[in-house]
Amino acid sequence: MNARLDARPDAEHLLQHVWGYPAFRGMQRDVVDHVAAGGDALVLMPTGGGKSLCYQIPALLRAGIGVVVSPLIALMQDQVAALEELGVRAAFLNSTLDAATVQDVQQRARRGELDLLYMAPERLLSESGLRLLGQCRIALFAIDEAHCVSQWGHDFRPEYGQLAVLRERWPEVPRIALTATADVPTRQEIAERLLRDGRAFVSSFDRPNIRYRVVEKRDGRAQLLNFIRTEHAGDCGVVYCLSRNTVEEVAAMLAGHGIRALPYHAGLPAAQRASHLRRFLDEDGVVMVATIAFGMGIDKPDVRFVAHLDMPRSIEGYFQETGRAGRDGLPAQAWMAYGLSDVVQQRRLIELSEADDAYKRLSSSKLDAMLALAEAADCRRVRLLGYFDEASGPCGNCDNCLNPPELVDATESAQKLLSCIYRCRQTSGTSFAATHIIDVLRGKRSEKVERHNHHALSTFGIGADLSEQDWRQLLRQLAAQHLVEVDPAHFNVLHLTESSREVLRGARRIHLKRQEPAAAGKRRASST
Ligand code: ADP
Ligand code: ZN
Repeated sequence: MNARLDARPDAEHLLQHVWGYPAFRGMQRDVVDHVAAGGDALVLMPTGGGKSLCYQIPALLRAGIGVVVSPLIALMQDQVAALEELGVRAAFLNSTLDAATVQDVQQRARRGELDLLYMAPERLLSESGLRLLGQCRIALFAIDEAHCVSQWGHDFRPEYGQLAVLRERWPEVPRIALTATADVPTRQEIAERLLRDGRAFVSSFDRPNIRYRVVEKRDGRAQLLNFIRTEHAGDCGVVYCLSRNTVEEVAAMLAGHGIRALPYHAGLPAAQRASHLRRFLDEDGVVMVATIAFGMGIDKPDVRFVAHLDMPRSIEGYFQETGRAGRDGLPAQAWMAYGLSDVVQQRRLIELSEADDAYKRLSSSKLDAMLALAEAADCRRVRLLGYFDEASGPCGNCDNCLNPPELVDATESAQKLLSCIYRCRQTSGTSFAATHIIDVLRGKRSEKVERHNHHALSTFGIGADLSEQDWRQLLRQLAAQHLVEVDPAHFNVLHLTESSREVLRGARRIHLKRQEPAAAGKRRASST
């Protein structure tokens, strides 16, 4: 069937008769009308929000081919297969095709026998790609995953920057840029680089069925195992880790405990990656343990949990990764184990990166926002949505709403901690790491304490009222707020910072979450 045989079908008709859906969702209708009428559009919708229809239907409504730029080869193939199933004339051009198929697709495009043509950006931008498009009638350009255009973003792709050429060569063809993740500066960047007077369509980013949870990392892997066993036995899930090594170790650990866990990272042979991906998509209850190389565009509806063993470096990353949970709308969890090591590790990654200072500053401020979310004692969803400029009220479906942490003023303890760091350094002429500082505070005469004569310090034993966990929590909070610096290049020794003084002066209050006994957490989990 040719979707276009109907005389001048309208949008509703196509939706119902080609896609078989009764009605448009949310902003889809407005976007379709706007683009079909020739307008440029920026569409921000969360993953699973229904972005594809926003360009697919206008492409059928307008004369010519809808050209879709997508960085994701796997996604392209799936989309094209799904469209063909519906009777829409779709094809893709990317590096996986043999020469004969490329010829054939190009022929069909030139003859106007395609409604939608998906292209990888480098293919489109190549001389032959641009030549081909010059020979076709183009209905619109859809630029999927448009946040890749942002130099500051976590998915920057240089080819995306060059897509400005579309606007120059085809000024009369409407462009629609789509993304599931973009904070306000990124939105501006997309609009500036790709669109001309584009209208922005921003839908709610709330994913109410996802429960956000951050737990204090003690033994992250054991906590993860416990989380999966007690709350998600047999469920499909994704576990994100920062390094390839961790991915393999954690996958092996989970598999050793009878969980169907598979590793996925860019360092695995392509065939293995593909087979793990297939199993994840086709089989029930597979837990994919992965680096962030896994997931962009993966559409599996019944992912029941996304777990982070390492904190992502920005809220956008966190939102995008956790957004892979619960796309079917059923309850799902976003679980993260978070500790001081995350603060240190992420700060270090920024420091060591070869980016220029402006980029480092930006990365730093994104990280700080992520840290504030991880440290938050109030509704996580309010913070998350607030980051995307969306106002909301306490959600009732995050850890802090369900179990509001009891906050105690810990300014005085923070002052003790900072003074102790200062005194130890002053007497010994060198800096010390957390374990030692906490020993001194708690009055523990370790071998090292005695060797440095730190039991003679005025700060020795002044912090016996707090547990070691409390001190670590406090320290992590101070580090997250730049009130203490942890130096990973020198055995994680602690330094005071410019802002430490604000705390010492009492100009800045610090709060501590009262630690909940481990058993309470379990009870809560099983009762929901
Ligand atoms: P996104 O690209 O925003 O992640 P998709 O375009 O892949 O989302 O759509 C997500 C799912 O929602 C798909 O399965 C799609 O078929 C479905 N969908 C989209 N729009 C509608 C609609 N108006 N009615 C019913 N289902 C829809
Ligand atoms: Zn909440």
